[in-house]
Amino acid sequence: MAIERTFSIIKPDATRRNLTGAINAIFEKNGLRIVAQKRIWMSRAHAKKFYEVHAARPFYNDLVDFMVSGPVVVQVLEGEDAVAKNRELMGATNPANAAEGTIRKLFAESIEANSVHGSDSPENAAIEIAYFFAGTELVG
Ligand code: GDP
Ligand code: MG
Repeated sequence: MAIERTFSIIKPDATRRNLTGAINAIFEKNGLRIVAQKRIWMSRAHAKKFYEVHAARPFYNDLVDFMVSGPVVVQVLEGEDAVAKNRELMGATNPANAAEGTIRKLFAESIEANSVHGSDSPENAAIEIAYFFAGTELVG
């Protein structure tokens, strides 16, 4: 398996409850290295573009409102099979369906306020990383 990078967001519901460290501990315990990280407050334009793929979905406007409702922590995680590994650690989108021990099972408040974002493919990971970070900000 190759060493890979994925893009992650600790969402506003989690930063509000001071869960950044608890979530990062799960990544680090499971072999994902945080090679870039910053706390930002996304602009509405930035959030809308990031979630553009969901623009036709009924929850799009609510999702954008939620993502700009507080600070987020954007990060790049590196490790073996990082994209799939992170999706596994996150758990299902809806916390009601998330497996025991996953971040969303442990922390998510709802299907929308579900604590974390993670890229769903290596191709999207590269696009999402470049959307938030300059190459010089990634320190492996
Ligand atoms: P993810 O890849 O597991 O994050 O899920 P998706 O890419 O399908 O959806 C992106 C984000 O939109 C999710 O993480 C949720 O925050 C939100 N979302 C997804 N489905 C719903 C829904 O049915 N209702 C609401 N309100 N939000 C949703
Ligand atoms: Mg997704």
